Amino acid sequence: MRLRAMAKINLGLDVIRKREDGYHEVRMIMQTIRMYDTLDIRKKQTPGISLSSNLPYIPCDDRNLAYRAAKLLMDEFQIKEGLSMKLAKAIPVAAGMAGGSSDAAAAFVGVNRLFRLGLTEEELMKRAVKIGADVPYCVMRGTALAEGIGEKLTPLAPLPDCYVLIGKPAVSVSTKTAYENLNLEKIGRHPDIDGMLQDISGGDLYGLTQKMENVFEPGITAKYPVIRQIRDFMEERGALKAMMSGSGPTVFGIFDDKRMLYAAAEDLKKSGLAKTVFAARIYNRRGGTEDE
Ligand code: ATP
Repeated sequence: MRLRAMAKINLGLDVIRKREDGYHEVRMIMQTIRMYDTLDIRKKQTPGISLSSNLPYIPCDDRNLAYRAAKLLMDEFQIKEGLSMKLAKAIPVAAGMAGGSSDAAAAFVGVNRLFRLGLTEEELMKRAVKIGADVPYCVMRGTALAEGIGEKLTPLAPLPDCYVLIGKPAVSVSTKTAYENLNLEKIGRHPDIDGMLQDISGGDLYGLTQKMENVFEPGITAKYPVIRQIRDFMEERGALKAMMSGSGPTVFGIFDDKRMLYAAAEDLKKSGLAKTVFAARIYNRRGGTEDE
């Protein structure tokens, strides 16, 4: 069975407060894009889970989110057969695109199907939050408002069809550092998430993109100016708006014109500002996977 684990971008990202348990309460507008890792899964003769990946530097044991997701279901349902998983990563790692979370979501959906566990999407999402706050969203996909620590989801109307240019510079930002750098008292203005929700329900891509904002961006760009450079580069080449995704460092630009998108992608590659450049369509269907 071959599954696609799709990446997400945050069209809007606000942090509301720090809870007593240390987690942050957020309000985020999530959007799935057609950039994906591929997860091949099959039963194997010997018991246990084996995982391999095309990237030597990501762990293939129980530190891998796809492994953890598969194990959670297999333990719960006491599956004695073995499972073999092969992961081909295309989503940049530690980039603010929920790559690991999406791989976990694909593993949930795949194990559920392969062993005919009969869990509904909702039942999978309930288990998914145990692996990570973004994993339930990665099971659901499409356009959604994420609240709480990211696990309280409200599906939203699909965006008008548009394109996304991804540019990831060669810097690493951990989510932990991004939160540590964020001084909640000092945030002068918060993203207009409510205004964005209105634009989404009215199908107003132009209103929506003009309101795009990420509370992490000012702090992270101050540290890594290349992020701002990529953002400006995309906007100068026709993006309706460009912004950092999640806690960075990936920058995405929204385009309504395919030719401009590809021309901007070529220019960005030549500029040397970004290590990974990728042009994608947004993905607007609901549901955990799309088999190839
Ligand atoms: P988010 O947007 O949710 O913050 P991210 O894109 O910042 O996610 P990931 O790519 O999911 O981050 O991975 C972050 C870390 O998690 C990596 O350093 C890696 O070692 C570990 N990891 C665990 N499982 C995976 C996986 N399946 N793919 C990539 N990294 C994984």
